[in-house]
Amino acid sequence: MTQPPEDADRRRAVAPVIAYPEDSLPPADLPLYARARETARKTAEVVIRPRDAACFHVPAGHFFRIASIEGPQVGDLNLWAAGDLSERFFSGKTRALHGTHVSTGDRLWSSFPYLRPMATVTTDTLDWYGADAYGGRVHDVIGTRCDPYTHRLLAGGDYHHCCHSNLTRALAAETGLPLARAEPHVHDVLNVFMCTGFTRETGQYFMKASPVRPGDYLECFAEIDLLGALSACPGGDCSAEHSSDAAACYPLKVEVFAPEDGALDGWSPPPRNAYDRTHGV
Ligand SMILES: [Zn+2]
Repeated sequence: MTQPPEDADRRRAVAPVIAYPEDSLPPADLPLYARARETARKTAEVVIRPRDAACFHVPAGHFFRIASIEGPQVGDLNLWAAGDLSERFFSGKTRALHGTHVSTGDRLWSSFPYLRPMATVTTDTLDWYGADAYGGRVHDVIGTRCDPYTHRLLAGGDYHHCCHSNLTRALAAETGLPLARAEPHVHDVLNVFMCTGFTRETGQYFMKASPVRPGDYLECFAEIDLLGALSACPGGDCSAEHSSDAAACYPLKVEVFAPEDGALDGWSPPPRNAYDRTHGV
């Protein structure tokens, strides 16, 4: 270990600054969304089987709700712009802008060069959880997704029902792409209902039993036309392990709600990012 310099304590004592202050982000009109939601009617429903994934479509201006229905279960969410798989959810930038976990009012941002809100969280029935004594919070954008490659590294053997594979199969089935071409479109997820954090001592990623119970849900407003895919993680509530058939797993439900005509007057989908992409050349 390197010998600390004489001013080590002084260097450590420097106060942090927020890297990306949120106040200058374009605001979401949450009161407008709430009014539109009051009269919205359900137009679609998809039930995701345990250890599997399914796709769903949400037109811009509609709402989608991810619900726990039979038992505590974590869901891994991917989002793409409908009709353009190159614009997809950007977990890392969403984390940089809103923090390690998302809740009501936070946006789910898309990848470069689009970088615009794809969805806005409008209701989170687990918002009461806050942060627990371990630093755990719910709905993270710090994990990636369970996958067969990491499983092979850490445990050996092949497991085919990790969220990565579930999402790959679902996207291939939805788009008609062969598995090998669908797989690169699968990306870091929003871990819906998952309770995670980093240990204080070693900074390691941890998970613990999700506080989600049947009836809980996370609801979002689609800012653009979306194709979504949701995996019911083989880890179940992620209290012990994932990447195996050991955990109790339950289905998840996705419901889509359409606003009444005129309910969103004055609102329009956000434009793609205005940067000119000349990169100084
Ligand atoms: Zn998983």
